[in-house]
Amino acid sequence: MKTIIEPFRVKVVEPIRLTTAEEREAALAAAGYNLFLLQSRDVIIDLLTDSGTSAMSAEQWAALMRGDESYAGSPSFDRFEESVRDIFGFKHVIPTHQGRAAERILFSTLCQRGHVVPNNTHFDTTRANLEYAGAEAIDIPCVESRVLSDPHPFKGNMDVAALETIVERHGARKIPLVMITITNNSGGGQPVSMANVRAVKDVCARNGIPLYIDACRFAENAWFIREREPGYAGRSVKSIAQELFALADGCTMSAKKDGLANIGGFLCTNDDVLARQERDLLILTEGFPTYGGLAGRDLEAIAVGLQEALHEDYLAYRAASTAYLGDHVSSAGIPIVQPPGGHAIYVDAASMLPHIPRLEYPAQALAVELYREAGIRTVEIGSVMFARKDPITGSELPAPNELVRLAIPRRAYTQSHVDYVIEAMLGVYARRESIRGLRIVDQAPFLRHFTARFELC
Ligand SMILES: *Cc1c(COP(=O)(O)O)cnc(C)c1O
Repeated sequence: MKTIIEPFRVKVVEPIRLTTAEEREAALAAAGYNLFLLQSRDVIIDLLTDSGTSAMSAEQWAALMRGDESYAGSPSFDRFEESVRDIFGFKHVIPTHQGRAAERILFSTLCQRGHVVPNNTHFDTTRANLEYAGAEAIDIPCVESRVLSDPHPFKGNMDVAALETIVERHGARKIPLVMITITNNSGGGQPVSMANVRAVKDVCARNGIPLYIDACRFAENAWFIREREPGYAGRSVKSIAQELFALADGCTMSAKKDGLANIGGFLCTNDDVLARQERDLLILTEGFPTYGGLAGRDLEAIAVGLQEALHEDYLAYRAASTAYLGDHVSSAGIPIVQPPGGHAIYVDAASMLPHIPRLEYPAQALAVELYREAGIRTVEIGSVMFARKDPITGSELPAPNELVRLAIPRRAYTQSHVDYVIEAMLGVYARRESIRGLRIVDQAPFLRHFTARFELC
């Protein structure tokens, strides 16, 4: 059979409110052309994020009912811990309310001023938590990742030579850990190969530096290893994930991604002394070590979700539906980051809308048009989010890329929804020359993309 179907059927439906073009125009004006400021009831297909937006399975809903809300010693924690250990293999499993809480606890135990932490690409909360702990976050993605249209199979890889240089320059004592983000979210949702993790581990081991995995999309990454890396074709995806984590000393995880849950996260380590300090901090700000800021029912949903994320029919469908979207729009001429990632498609708005100057935010303009055309909400990852100030003149400098991310919630939409998105994108592409840029009329001093308001140029 050629057609890869959704390997599930629908048991509960969540109605989508279909809006008219006039309603969308009014909603855009009210939101100041910032899609973060839209009401979700005005959105037809929400591709803002894949985080916390998964549809849970019947087994997860059933597990929820089993949740034991005892303050201490809940059997829900035991089931959670067992599921995490089964896949990740680390000695200590510390639950947290989200991935960023795991990051904060890890970095406040390990990092201090003067430290540097290399990563293929830090996710924004990872970078912010490191900087808050006083450390410097250094991104060293592989060179192939710089050419958006290059279809290299492992563009999420770390530049190992750059890592060696950093270790030589700063000395291992200044590097409390090295992190690898799988898949590389900020770098286009691209996977990291096992060979790359192994090479990074070699550098870490030679220098006595612990290796941590930012594991949010571990199942998608393991799937890509099986599909693309020589030697892994016959292996189970779970055994690939286990092999990968066996190379690391610990991990941080947001269960809102490949945990298939709506909330939750965890922190793992093999280091007894560190685990003790981390649990002390956990009690201070998150909760007792058997719930860490989560309800017992959340722990149950995650325990089941982590295993379901490794089901191979699910992963085949997941990768196929993301690639389906990417391949259809790119064969119509729309420039995207190649190859299609695991959780999202990134459109290269600077190439698609060359007539819009970078500081009139082509990616924001494209995101606005997708909403206007069909009620689709996406997110700008360009100069609205990442512009820098010129240190001398104080004027705004554009970000290196102008991307629009279409993140696909897990198990939530069907192929006809994806076909609708493709149709909308082709409609916008056909009238691309008439699309106008935007100017900011109101902005916050930090993280302005969440609240800025715009006007058409
Ligand atoms: C989402 C994410 C995080 C943070 O997790 P939250 O649950 O949102 O706090 C960290 N790293 C990566 C790569 C992520 O995608």
